[in-house]
Amino acid sequence: MKLFMEHGKIYVTGLGPGAAEQMTFQAGNVLEKCSVIIGYTVYIDLIREAYPDKVFLSTPMRREAERCRMAFEEAAKGKNVAMVCSGDAGIYGMAGLIYEIGRDYPEVGIEVVPGITAASGGAAVLGAPLMHDFAVISLSDLLTPWETIERRLRAAAEADFVICLYNPSSKKRADYLRRACALILQYRSGKTVCGTVRNIGREGESCRILSLEELMDTPVDMFTTVYIGNSNTMELRGRMVTPRGYRDV
Ligand code: SAH
Repeated sequence: MKLFMEHGKIYVTGLGPGAAEQMTFQAGNVLEKCSVIIGYTVYIDLIREAYPDKVFLSTPMRREAERCRMAFEEAAKGKNVAMVCSGDAGIYGMAGLIYEIGRDYPEVGIEVVPGITAASGGAAVLGAPLMHDFAVISLSDLLTPWETIERRLRAAAEADFVICLYNPSSKKRADYLRRACALILQYRSGKTVCGTVRNIGREGESCRILSLEELMDTPVDMFTTVYIGNSNTMELRGRMVTPRGYRDV
């Protein structure tokens, strides 16, 4: 007989951008193994049907810390818990916060299970925009001061990185992409090849290839990932392609 109850474990799991076939086998196995699945409502709804016998728990957006505590409480009861995120759990996902809140629950184990992040999912839709050095920058100033975001945009633009923007807009931040483009235009030509991909791997997936000047006046929403090419990025076969190097092939 066990005298002490065994603790469960938290698996911080990236589900990929949307489609079930873009989820890794590892993530699928983890969901099978866990009795409790916790996540933001939108992601839970994407997988609920496929796992009818699981307990699903959720909190609304902006209640992330509460969601993490919920996961630790369940694991402390001895359950294996999947804390699910879209894309990769360690890229603007929940992995970091789980470790931070995990300070209060040293007895509960934590494992991070990676997934296809929006940057690579969307890159495949556009062609091959991320073939050379690139910087991923989130335009959300909920957790980061806008000055820091601007500083990083400037540095990436100045160093000719391909730039991939997450959280390019929201109702409250309607003109942030415009502001980011204006800043990048100080370092890069208005003809720079850019792309947007909306609903990667989900119903209604769509993409566009356009110039930096055009991008500046393009409305986007929070389900979109934006790509700004480097000085060598070009359009080939109607796709966005960054050459592997800066030397002629
Ligand atoms: N952990 C996620 C990112 C969360 S931040 C990942 O690794 O992909 C949320 C932002 O990611 C969105 O505003 C959008 O810019 C991007 N994103 C996530 N999923 C997407 C999808 N299916 N289609 C387009 N963009 C997506």
